[in-house]
Amino acid sequence: MVLINDAEADNLSGHLGQSRETFDEKYLEKGSNGLMIMNRMPCHFLNDNKCTVYEHRFEGCKEFPALHLPNFKDRLFTTFMHYERCPIIFNVVEQLKDAMSFER
Ligand code: SF4
Repeated sequence: MVLINDAEADNLSGHLGQSRETFDEKYLEKGSNGLMIMNRMPCHFLNDNKCTVYEHRFEGCKEFPALHLPNFKDRLFTTFMHYERCPIIFNVVEQLKDAMSFER
């Protein structure tokens, strides 16, 4: 799940030539706390396993899978959600298993 802020939504809606209102209605879900996320998984902009808006993707996409950021333990659930489809996460988890002598 990628959190999206107004500046990012403005940037991508502008790139797509859509008003923010149209963009928000088509692609975003807004929580009562003001946070915005994509309203569909996989993302609307994923096609043939590639990001079709790569140059305009959100900051959360650029950071993904965020293994380098602090508080990794707090993101374990979302990290493991992508274990089967993200080769970075897969390889890191497999290396952790080896490092911890995890019995298979
Ligand atoms: S990288 Fe592109 S396809 Fe993937 S979640 Fe971000 S915007 Fe969507």
